[in-house]
Amino acid sequence: MFITNWQPILIENSQSVTMTCPNCGNHAKHQVYKQAYGLAIAIPFMSQPLISNYNYFLLCSICNNPTKKISKEEMQSLLK
Ligand SMILES: [Zn+2]
Repeated sequence: MFITNWQPILIENSQSVTMTCPNCGNHAKHQVYKQAYGLAIAIPFMSQPLISNYNYFLLCSICNNPTKKISKEEMQSLLK
């Protein structure tokens, strides 16, 4: 077991949001990602932590930077 930083994961059944990116300035599609935070117990062959909370955010499709943190409720409103 070890403690790690988890990679952002695309929420595949969510809609993309088109907005101006504060990082690159492009009017770009943003997709909804989630990332586990806090201390999560990881098992090497698993891709997801067993116990964790998630941060939800929008990620710019052009510069790949997270541009806006969103709440769980906002994330759910973007699900298809
Ligand atoms: Zn951008």
